[in-house]
Amino acid sequence: MFKSVNANENFPEMEKKWLKHWYEKGIVKKYLKKNNPSTSLRAKKYFSFLDGPITANNPMGVHHAWGRTYKDLWPRFYNLLGYKQRFQNGFDCQGLWVEVEVEKELGLRSKKDIENLVPGDSKASISKFVQLCKDRVLKFSKIQTEQSKRLGYFADWEHSYFTMSDENNYMIWNFLKNCYNHGWIYKGRESVPWCPRCETAISQHEMLTEDYKEIVHESVYLALPLVKTHDRASLLVWTTTPWTIPANIAVAINKDYDYSLVEGTSGELFWVAKDLIDAVFGKDYKRIVKTVKGQKLVGLKYDGPFDHLPAVSEVAKNYPEKFHTVIATDDLILPISVTEGTGLVHTAVSAGVEDFKLGKKYGLPMIPVIEDNADYRPDMGFLAGKNAKKHPEIILNYLREKDVVFKTHHYKHRYPACWRCKSELVWKVEDEWYIAMDKVPNSKFQVPNKSKIQNSKSQTLRQRMIEVAKKIKWMPEFGLDRELDWLKNMHDWLISKKNRYWGLALPIYECGGDKGCGGFEVLGSKEELKKRAVTGWKEFEGHSPHKPFIDEVKIKCQSCGKTVSRLNDVGNPWLDAGIVAYSTISEDNQGQPLYLKDKKKWRSWFPADFITESFPGQFKNWFYAQIAMSTVMENEPPFKRVLGFGTQLGEDGRPMHKSWGNAIEFNEGADKIGVDVMRWMFCRHNPADNMLFGYKKADEVRRQFYLMLWNVYKFFVEYANLDNFKARSQNFLAPVGTLPVGNGVSQVAKNFNSSLLLKKNVLDRWILSRFTELIISVEKNLKEFNAKDAALEIEKFVSDLSTWYIRRSRDRVWVNSDNEVDKNNFYETLYYILVNLSIIISPFIPFVAEEIYTNLKGGESVNLENWPEIDNKLINKKIKEQMNLARKIVEAGQAERKVVGVKIRIPLANLQVKIELTGNFKSISNEIWDVILKELNVKNLTVNNNFHYPKKEVKVAEAELEKEGKLRELIRQIQSSRKLKGLKPNDKINLTIPKEFEKEKDWIAKRVLAKKIVFDNKIIVQ
Ligand SMILES: [Zn+2]
Ligand SMILES: [Zn+2]
Repeated sequence: MFKSVNANENFPEMEKKWLKHWYEKGIVKKYLKKNNPSTSLRAKKYFSFLDGPITANNPMGVHHAWGRTYKDLWPRFYNLLGYKQRFQNGFDCQGLWVEVEVEKELGLRSKKDIENLVPGDSKASISKFVQLCKDRVLKFSKIQTEQSKRLGYFADWEHSYFTMSDENNYMIWNFLKNCYNHGWIYKGRESVPWCPRCETAISQHEMLTEDYKEIVHESVYLALPLVKTHDRASLLVWTTTPWTIPANIAVAINKDYDYSLVEGTSGELFWVAKDLIDAVFGKDYKRIVKTVKGQKLVGLKYDGPFDHLPAVSEVAKNYPEKFHTVIATDDLILPISVTEGTGLVHTAVSAGVEDFKLGKKYGLPMIPVIEDNADYRPDMGFLAGKNAKKHPEIILNYLREKDVVFKTHHYKHRYPACWRCKSELVWKVEDEWYIAMDKVPNSKFQVPNKSKIQNSKSQTLRQRMIEVAKKIKWMPEFGLDRELDWLKNMHDWLISKKNRYWGLALPIYECGGDKGCGGFEVLGSKEELKKRAVTGWKEFEGHSPHKPFIDEVKIKCQSCGKTVSRLNDVGNPWLDAGIVAYSTISEDNQGQPLYLKDKKKWRSWFPADFITESFPGQFKNWFYAQIAMSTVMENEPPFKRVLGFGTQLGEDGRPMHKSWGNAIEFNEGADKIGVDVMRWMFCRHNPADNMLFGYKKADEVRRQFYLMLWNVYKFFVEYANLDNFKARSQNFLAPVGTLPVGNGVSQVAKNFNSSLLLKKNVLDRWILSRFTELIISVEKNLKEFNAKDAALEIEKFVSDLSTWYIRRSRDRVWVNSDNEVDKNNFYETLYYILVNLSIIISPFIPFVAEEIYTNLKGGESVNLENWPEIDNKLINKKIKEQMNLARKIVEAGQAERKVVGVKIRIPLANLQVKIELTGNFKSISNEIWDVILKELNVKNLTVNNNFHYPKKEVKVAEAELEKEGKLRELIRQIQSSRKLKGLKPNDKINLTIPKEFEKEKDWIAKRVLAKKIVFDNKIIVQ
């Protein structure tokens, strides 16, 4: 007997039952070890999945469940196929995201607050702050682990990797040393995007399109009076960032444009681009005095409103030639628009990327105006100490007082914000550290040893990365173009972060300051640090390589012998996740990286076969960082294939937001939807498209697929129990462990004697053929990393199974059939299908798969099974085609019956149908025609006026047909009142029926399990 199946199963509760079982009975451990050579016979095949670490900073959202479903699906599939795997999950730990949350928790507002956490002791304060960051990571990694388990995700949870580990940090040192040896690390002084709250540079890689906000700023048209001219004319410039005006060095124009001198309503004169006169003045001007080419303006000098500030007058004095001059722009650096503004561009070399580049090209000086928190610097006179971003009115009011404002207007534009704290960014000139993308390396590093692109001419890191990126299989295919687009255009990689605490300690030792020689070195390992340490090793030993303890260690400058400290900066956080292919592959996911310990073994896992992440952002981040780091380390792709997927949105099509009420917290979603259904929703979705997710969508999937499967299973168990069906346990199934593991053969399949089936009912032959093709197609699709098509094929099959095979087989079970052989064939067929189906759906929906498998097969766990072996003999293309056609005929027949208006229960002597011929229905075998007749409940069928089945018309008297219909109706009524009374299928009844059925008494008694029948005018079931 099989355990009976509940029609109203509480699926989330069922899932929790299995979770408990899997972890308590060691099923997960056995699953992880299943294909491990030390415990099983043979597993030479490796499937290397590399996890993109989840940020351990908050609980998981349902959007994380999408990617994590893929991250579980393929390892499960390859485990069934007998591949050895690592099953390692990862957590991303270091960086601003954690710092910002810890700051919020503690109510800290600035760097000063952090360094005063232990009052008066900045080292102790930093140590405490770093510890709190570590604690936060550990707390949320635990929560995320539990949530992932709830999702049914099987992984080596006890040995997840953490990017804050010593192994990971030192491997990044190894990478940086490598870059240094190539001559690719340099210190650059540039205008960088800067967050005034976090007081740190935001690299170009971190500025994602979604971090731009639509912001309204008060923009200003400013008159800059020309000096040494007779006509008292001014240059009219326009800026959306008035706080940068004190930093103005030059005004840029396009030498080929026409510029006009315009006389305003009260006689003053302004230079503007001719094409913009109307836009600037409207009708409010007297006349155009003259028009000249921009070239004529080049070299003119002007006065600025802030020339008296000490920092400004200092630059004016030191650079009289360059200061406040009209220059011709370089179109490639700073193109000048004639659709907005004035055609004359305020250029502040210290406060803008293009301005800085232009300044560099023309050798312009710059005036640094703000400090790290965007306060004006002390040498900025009356502005000193005031915040440039928070108080833009200081500048505007002052300009109005000076009467140099032509007009202001509110201007809406897309403006970048800090990806972490959402503050508006500013631009600031800073010394930062970079990895050079376009530098040919030092001669001895020009061609890496044994490199796969040894003969290539690619020399610079950018060129090499492009070659490496092309070797990767990108899914969807546009991924490659997106990545190449980024690789071709990106700036050098800004790897330093000033003023931060919780991150990689950049191993750069610069011999700076007044007495230093100006050189710098990069250290590549803990061992090297120890060897080079002159002081502080004792204080550092035993600590992780983080602030503040790492900074106790000082080394000696190799050139001048001076004692040198580590740079105060931490690293760009994408270094952390980018190195994981090198740092996290280790023996049993523990200890020293195999890359250092046993490179040959490491090679069996590298490059990873597969990674999968949500696309947005990763081209500039994780994918980029991995490609960059692996190119430097080995000149090889770190992974062979990437499956990208879109963004999850609410059911209303909007991004999920708590405040909009369309966000779903993971645990709540899991308990309301059930994770099987959730996983199925992800699997059946096209990953290239964004996904709408919510409870209504979940209900559809539950009804249209999940419950259909459950009801097929329930049907089987209910009738198999009633008929006392026993799977031929001795012959049918071999005991677990008697077959070699790792060859991907399911024992259920191996022992299924398919030759017996060849004599079977056409329905059995058809469904077995369908099922065999399903197994082939699911395997093929999953091997192509196409979960969607695999899932949709399974849905179609389950629908066929339910709406055709089971529907047409209802007469073959229990009291409905007297043919014991056929009955047994039905059970055996459905049993074979359900057990094997439970195996092939287990990577998608492991809970219901386990429920079905363990109940039917009685084995330990579906998770320890092997992929079913198929028997090609079962594939029957002819039956498949004929059955497809048969179902079309049935559809047409049912439509025809509707037209005639006769219920399906009433048999018809003849039915005529017309179908558009999509196949040769003359080829349909008689046994399939019989299936059609039964389904349509007709005695004779005529298709398209010329085909008749049966050939010899079956003659039935009208009265006979009527009787048959009545009999069916009677049975239906009795069955439904049995149901209403809550009787079990094998409960016997006392029956009262009309006298007219006396002749069919015995037949009725058998069908409805009546022990006694009496006759009266009504129908009574007791
Ligand atoms: Zn910030
Ligand atoms: Zn030195």
